[in-house]
Parts: sequence; C-alpha cells; structure tokens
Amino acid sequence: LLELGLVSGVGGVSRGGRRPSVFSFNPHSGVILAAGLGATHSRLAVTDLAGVTLVDREFDLDIELGPEAVLSLSQKQFTELLDQAGVAPASVRGVGVGVPAPVESATGKPVQPPIMPGWDSYPIRDRLAGYDVPVLVDNDVNLMALGEQRTCYQNVPNLLFVKVATGIGGGIIVEGRVYRGADGSAGDVGHVHIAAAGDALCRCGKVGCLEAIASGGAIARRLSEQGIEASTARDVVELVNAGNMRAIELVRESGRLIGEVLGSAVNILNPRVVVIGGDLAQAEGHLMPGIRELVYQRSISLATGHVRIAPSHLDNRAEVIGAALMAIDHVFSPAKVDEAVTEYAV
Ligand SMILES: [Zn+2]
Repeated sequence: LLELGLVSGVGGVSRGGRRPSVFSFNPHSGVILAAGLGATHSRLAVTDLAGVTLVDREFDLDIELGPEAVLSLSQKQFTELLDQAGVAPASVRGVGVGVPAPVESATGKPVQPPIMPGWDSYPIRDRLAGYDVPVLVDNDVNLMALGEQRTCYQNVPNLLFVKVATGIGGGIIVEGRVYRGADGSAGDVGHVHIAAAGDALCRCGKVGCLEAIASGGAIARRLSEQGIEASTARDVVELVNAGNMRAIELVRESGRLIGEVLGSAVNILNPRVVVIGGDLAQAEGHLMPGIRELVYQRSISLATGHVRIAPSHLDNRAEVIGAALMAIDHVFSPAKVDEAVTEYAV
C-alpha cells in the first residue's frame, strides 16, 4: 500500500521501546473526476481521494442536446479542470457521473429518461472510458443523498433526501448506503399518485403524480397560465424573492402536497433526517412549513418522534460530491484494492 502511494507514514511517538510507525490513508495519491449533469445546468469537479473538491465549475448545459454533445463537452471541461488543478490525466483513479434519470444499477445506463431525449440506454460508461479507470453512473438524487449524508450527517445512517426542482425526486440512505431497490428506481417520490393532482398529466406519461402539481415546473406552468412569466424552478424562486404573492401561495401549497407524500415515506422508511434540496428549496421559508406540518400530521409518532426535516447544507454541490464519493467507494472497495496490490506485485 505504501509503494502504491495509498497510505503514507505519519510518524509515531515512542512510549518506551521501539518507535511505532503510524500510517494513514493518503488522499493525494490520485484524483477523481465528478459530474452532476442537470436538465439545464451542470457542475463538474476534480476531487482528491477523500472527496474534497480541488477545483469545480458550474455552467449552463442543456441535457436535451443529447449524450454525444453533452459528454464531449464534459470531457473538454474535465481536461480544463485537470489543467487548472495542475494534475496529470494519469492521476485520475475514477469517474463518477450523476444524471437526472432513472439509472439501471447493473449497467449505469439511463432507462427511459423523460427529460433526456436520446439518452435511453446510452452507454455513458463506455463513452467516458478514455481515462482507463472505473466509471460509475447513478441517478442525481441518489448522489445528493450520499453527498449530504457523508458530509453533514456521518452519524445518521438512515436518511431521505428529496430534490424539489423543476421535477421532484428522492434518494434513500439505509444503514449508510444508497438504497436503490431491485432495479434502481427506489425513492421515486415524484411519481407517487396524489388525489389533489386530479388528472394533471405528468411528464412520465401518467396522470396525478405529485410532480405534476407540486414541482417547480408545475408551479411555473400554473403561473404562466395566469400571465406570470416563469418556466423553471429558478424562475419561481426569483418571483418568490421579489415578493410575488401568487408564486408564494403556490410554493406554500406545494410544500403541503409534498409533505403529504413524505408523511407516507417517513412511515415506511423511518429515516432520522429528511433533507430537502433542489432549486425550489431556495424558497425554504415558504416550502418547509407545509412539509413539516403534513409529515408530523400524517406519520405515526414512533417515526416522527426524532425525525428532523432540514434544508440541504451542500445545496447545489451535493450531487457532484456524491458522485465523487460513489467513485471513491468503488475504487477503494476491498476487492479493488486487493486487485491493485496483486497487479502491482506481479
Ligand atoms: Zn409522473
């Protein structure tokens, strides 16, 4: 491990007898490339092997441009970021990518993503195989959940993360690990049926989903119908910050609708913390009261006795940090470290 650079000696103090050697994990023996690809903007980062960001950048990028355009641009940005960090491409140990889509866990391929035309079953791993290191892909909210839990709630092994943005999604951490379910679709709170949604058509193709009535996109649509210009969750937040009463009303109502669904989720999962992130969480003063009210009203008291409902601390960095941690978990899994040591010894 020393020769591979994965651990380094940090000295040791003798208490009589031979001086002991103390070793610790060396986070500087390589880097991870991490990407959080969003519907309209993306964030890319180079981190060390402990997941600490060395350099990062956020930029507008329309995911609808398709996988070829989006991934070549991302690769170009990675090259620039490595340059900026002064790190050689040979130091890259793993790549982690988050996408706003259901992802098949076994293959890392997006599955019928409603907002990503051209990405269905696209082999993201193969496309980013150029660094000759493992490439890991997961759903954006799973990674936000992982990033938030590892960074801010290390002593909280059971956590639910809900992203409220132009769409609504959820990520579940059980016993410190992302719970993906049998196929990778666990946590999809946005497409839970809710009576209040009536027959509102959802972008998943079904009617009556939570997302179809309570997401930033749904609020923007309702505002536009009333002559108030808005198309994304960010537009809604801008209107709220400017004191637009109709926008504030709709965000408050959205909080209660989301709370209704999360009340059931809390009953089923019994998390210690429910974290609310995503663009619409920027209007937390209006979104959180309804969520809190309904969760406490609708969940059984054993589940709500100690549950905390909190806004995301990592905010728009949660996904990219989670993407780096996913890659690190893989690269430093016992099997992979054994492999690296065996290869080195040969
Ligand atoms: Zn839906």
